[in-house]
Amino acid sequence: MIPEPHGGRLVDLRASTAELERREGELRDLAKVTPFVDQLYDAEKIGIGAYSPLEGFMDAATLESVTRSGKLPNGLPWPMPIYFPVPTGAAGRPVEELKGGDEVAVLDARGQAVALLRIDEKFRLDSAAIARSAYGTVDPKHPNVADIQRHGEMAWGGRITLLRRLDESRQGSEPDPAEMREEFRRRKWETVAAYQCRNPPHTAHEYLQRVTLEREEIDGLLIHPVVGRLKKGDYRPEVILAAYNALVSHYYPADRVIVRPLGITMRYAGPKAALFLAIVRKNFGCAAYIVGRDQAGVGAFYEPYACHRIFDEYDIGITPLRYEESFYCRRCGGMASSKTCAHGPEARLDTSQTRIRTSLAKGDAIPVELLRPEVAEILRRPDVLLTT
Ligand SMILES: [Zn+2]
Repeated sequence: MIPEPHGGRLVDLRASTAELERREGELRDLAKVTPFVDQLYDAEKIGIGAYSPLEGFMDAATLESVTRSGKLPNGLPWPMPIYFPVPTGAAGRPVEELKGGDEVAVLDARGQAVALLRIDEKFRLDSAAIARSAYGTVDPKHPNVADIQRHGEMAWGGRITLLRRLDESRQGSEPDPAEMREEFRRRKWETVAAYQCRNPPHTAHEYLQRVTLEREEIDGLLIHPVVGRLKKGDYRPEVILAAYNALVSHYYPADRVIVRPLGITMRYAGPKAALFLAIVRKNFGCAAYIVGRDQAGVGAFYEPYACHRIFDEYDIGITPLRYEESFYCRRCGGMASSKTCAHGPEARLDTSQTRIRTSLAKGDAIPVELLRPEVAEILRRPDVLLTT
């Protein structure tokens, strides 16, 4: 069955055409703020219902509840703090003057209004509590923790009105949850598994997808790469999508797998991120969610299987499909995991992304046991990595 959205109702905060026309006129008189890009992605995702049941950026009570218990004040599991730090400046009015009851226009980097934020509350952030709760650390070597420590001490909580989708979402043809659900219905897919990723596919990724497609309860697979804010050295979003489209079009049955981008900032929160990313996929209509080893981890911050165990602590209404690390075993002559292979690490091909990148950069031949040739061809092109 296609699951109910988280909290029971798909949030839709997009302005109607009539409202857009009316609000256009008012925009001139509103204070305008240009937040960090993370808040733009969040505003858009709140507006289209990807973060249902959130209808805006969290107020102090909600944020406190989430950081303390991993739940919203009504008891619904919600692991990730979604809040709006007060920007350093505003156009039209001094930012210090803006307070509860005011409405501000939220602009993208090009100066286009993306959303309206009605400030319900201005409150002080406990950055250390947020970092510890979501990321389990206050170590600034953690990239998202460093982001938390960079923003100011105050936040605005309040409801969003979405005026338009972000340009990059439109270019990537990113569906909203209602469109995604409609596509599943059209394909008569009831039980869809979501696959979270942020890199082009190699054979270990493909193996988890294939094992999932073999399960009798699974009707289809949504490969849903995160293509929001990325860091220098990451693959460009269009490269990740092209690589996946090559894999799907050359190797998977046409009616069982779809690839769509998801523009959000990657939160490397390990277990809390796995839970959050699963809730987002539930809102997109997926009933099952693939969790591999050390999902959404960074460095050595998380125990590799903590992302599996957290699904036992919180019932979020989506079935986790938990898989151990998979690899190509030379002795077995195929893909395997510790559940299916008797051999030690010396028999395995190193499928790490770092190893693949190094080989590609050196122009080495990549064995088909590691990377599909159609994917390797795309990754060998110039300028596949972000340089800024
Ligand atoms: Zn083996």
